[in-house]
Amino acid sequence: MNAFLSHGLLGWPLWALIGVWLLTLHLTVVAVSLYLHRDQTHRAVKLHPVVRHLCRFWLWLTTATVTREWVAVHRRHHSTVDHEGDPHSPRLFGLRTVLFGGVGLYRRAAEDSDTLKTYGQGTPDDWLERWVYAGPVNIIGILLLMGLEVLLFGPLGLTLWAVQMMGIPVLAAGVVNGLGHAVGYRNFDTPDLSHNIVPWGLVCGGEELHNNHHAFPGSARFSQRHGEFDIGWFYLRILSALGLAQIERLAATDGQSVSLQDLMAYRAHLMSRYLKEVLRPTWRNVRRDGFRPTRRCRRLFWLSPKLLGESAEDRATLDSVLDSQPVLRTVYDFRVRLGHVWESGAHAAQRLEELREWLSQARTSGVRQLEHFSERVHLLLEQPASQILSEAAGG
Ligand SMILES: [Zn+2]
Ligand SMILES: [Zn+2]
Repeated sequence: MNAFLSHGLLGWPLWALIGVWLLTLHLTVVAVSLYLHRDQTHRAVKLHPVVRHLCRFWLWLTTATVTREWVAVHRRHHSTVDHEGDPHSPRLFGLRTVLFGGVGLYRRAAEDSDTLKTYGQGTPDDWLERWVYAGPVNIIGILLLMGLEVLLFGPLGLTLWAVQMMGIPVLAAGVVNGLGHAVGYRNFDTPDLSHNIVPWGLVCGGEELHNNHHAFPGSARFSQRHGEFDIGWFYLRILSALGLAQIERLAATDGQSVSLQDLMAYRAHLMSRYLKEVLRPTWRNVRRDGFRPTRRCRRLFWLSPKLLGESAEDRATLDSVLDSQPVLRTVYDFRVRLGHVWESGAHAAQRLEELREWLSQARTSGVRQLEHFSERVHLLLEQPASQILSEAAGG
């Protein structure tokens, strides 16, 4: 009896409990990434109904997360990213707040009925969802888990449960939403502050590759470059081989025709190449010729023009730099215009036309790097879209 009270039914030692904690945390993280994020929010993959249901049950049991709320908050994040309305942007709230108070920000957005109505479409709405998973007894799941763990592991089970309850708030709300928009490296010039935190997405289920994800939100795979690994994609491959998942969309490599989707995919690669092949060498050249920008000027020059647009003071500072260096002005303006090609509401074929127009003007811009870039991209456009995409991805 005494042994039961102090160690529960199983009487497992501490190290075994740490194992249980790591395993359950990993399962939760993977359920969030595969089910809530890639399947429900972005429809990049269609999980088998059985897998979907296991994920719903598991997330109810370990996190009390409601699918509709999570999906709505995350879709709102994508549509307003790092601008007014983004529910958890470190740019708006400060990194500390998102890192340590991410759950509060999430709750505030999840309780907003307009957000749920606008962004929560297409999520489960069956009896089980209404009465159990999202219903008035929603927290029964995590209480059940607490009871079960105390029964199995004794008082230590309570500690295990408390640590488990902190898992998703720290990893998803804090690390991905906070660090994913502040720390790491960027493959793509997306109009936001998203970063790939580390190239190996293991701990957060692949969500670490957050800049890749913002560049291709509809892609089931988050890794893009050589040396990057997305463990969520690894599991999806297994599920798909077992007939338990159907991959709906992938970035960049599977484009067969010039659909809008392909063009959007092409855009991220093109912007990234523009930075590497035009902006960076031009910047280096003017520095070599004696141009000495302040830290602030440098930051403003490299910031996505969309993020800059809101501050008149930043704009004026950047303008004074660009006025003093005409060649920088040229490559900067071409960068802004290249961004506009994709943002107009035009039809895909029309965008392609606008891009051709941009290219022909770039070819006579008088800036060597810009002219070379234009020629190379022009050659790409002569090829079928599928080839364009894989070449753009490679180079
Ligand atoms: Zn984000
Ligand atoms: Zn997303």
